[in-house]
Amino acid sequence: MMDVIRCNMCGKELSVRNDILMEDAIIISKKWGYFSKKDGETHRICICEDCYDRLADSFAVPVQRDETAEYM
Ligand SMILES: [Zn+2]
Repeated sequence: MMDVIRCNMCGKELSVRNDILMEDAIIISKKWGYFSKKDGETHRICICEDCYDRLADSFAVPVQRDETAEYM
């Protein structure tokens, strides 16, 4: 069990309560396969929203945005 997840880009701690991330962030879990140089390795990264915005600004191709209906 993990109490704190840190943003891989800025190191900011994201609070986790009862295994639920209390702020929105990007979590990527990637299992690299045969055609990569990291066959068999699983990499996990977390990017907070501020870092995501900076990262997205640097993309050559803009982020595809779709509106999702609120479900709160
Ligand atoms: Zn960050």
